[in-house]
Amino acid sequence: GRKYVLTKYFRGEPKASDFKIVEEQIPELKEGEILTEAEYLSVDPYMRAYMIGYKLPTDMIGGQVAKIIASRNKDFPVGKYVVGAFGWRTHTVCSPKVPPSLGFLPTILLPNIEPHPLSLGLGILGMPGNTAYFGLKEICKPEPGETIAITGAAGAVGSHVGQIGKILGCKVIGFAGSDDKCEYLKKELGFDHAFNYKTANIRQALKEGAPQRIDCYFDNVGGEISSTIMNHMNKNGRVAVCGSISSYNDEKLPKVSILQPAIVFKELKVEGFLVNRWFNRWHEGINFNLKLLNEGKLKYQEKVYHGFDNMVDALVGMLRGENTGKAVVKVK
Ligand code: NDP
Repeated sequence: GRKYVLTKYFRGEPKASDFKIVEEQIPELKEGEILTEAEYLSVDPYMRAYMIGYKLPTDMIGGQVAKIIASRNKDFPVGKYVVGAFGWRTHTVCSPKVPPSLGFLPTILLPNIEPHPLSLGLGILGMPGNTAYFGLKEICKPEPGETIAITGAAGAVGSHVGQIGKILGCKVIGFAGSDDKCEYLKKELGFDHAFNYKTANIRQALKEGAPQRIDCYFDNVGGEISSTIMNHMNKNGRVAVCGSISSYNDEKLPKVSILQPAIVFKELKVEGFLVNRWFNRWHEGINFNLKLLNEGKLKYQEKVYHGFDNMVDALVGMLRGENTGKAVVKVK
């Protein structure tokens, strides 16, 4: 098997020279263990943000959809697929019962999602899909008729949040990084408004798109735009702080604008969350999203990169916004 080892901390954008690819021997399976072969590897924003907490060199972290090719575990038979936090490697030996290191999700069997592609186990039928479902439902708690603002709106999580918002009878306003993405959100996904945050005046956009102001804000990006949106919220608005990608590549923390008056005077409820909080309800989220998908109510796009050797290009491409929907890498 082959794996990526991170040898240098990222400075700015990740670079190929921050990694080395290492060959490794596959050990004999012990009782309870499985051997898997990666089909799809995920590239996610948290990879850029988390690595700072690791002692180097370290194996690169990440989720994958992998096929079980040998097994000494009757609950995980050969031929089935798993979703696991195995990192950037082609082959993995693991015991699915042993929880992975802190903060990562345990290995699960991918339910039968035919005729949909297996890669959805990393997207709308996996971690990002559950982030959209639980983050919106449990933190924003939108009521029909309310207005939801979403940043990072054309990405894996954001595009999904907006569609659930529409299904719940809300008005949905998205912010994304290109005119094409905004057209897709409005024409294909049914967003009421979408604005290119790189060219629009955000205050003006909010006045135009949400004259009734914002009740729920699903924040994927943080930074200045989030302050502007929170200042345009209604009293008792709810903010789900999901991610802060606008600063992940920054060396220094950006200057923070003053949010506290908006939080106080509008009595906002602002809550950060990590999706693994709901691991005990994981299949509820997957089943909810699978049902919507099968009923034709949930649309998706993927940006598929090809080849194990192109992991870094995929990670950087996603961070730059090349993707609409989920960015994944097809290993072979
Ligand atoms: P996306 O599919 O949204 O991909 C990342 C997107 O971020 C890019 O496509 C790009 O789109 C946008 N982006 C890049 N730089 C900036 C910037 N400076 N300002 C604004 N947008 C930018 O990724 P995910 O859907 O997987 O993740 C979205 C967010 O959710 C991230 O912040 C991530 O960390 C977070 N997250 C949190 C989880 C949790 O448990 N709390 C779980 C999963 C994700 P564009 O063209 O629009 O700029």
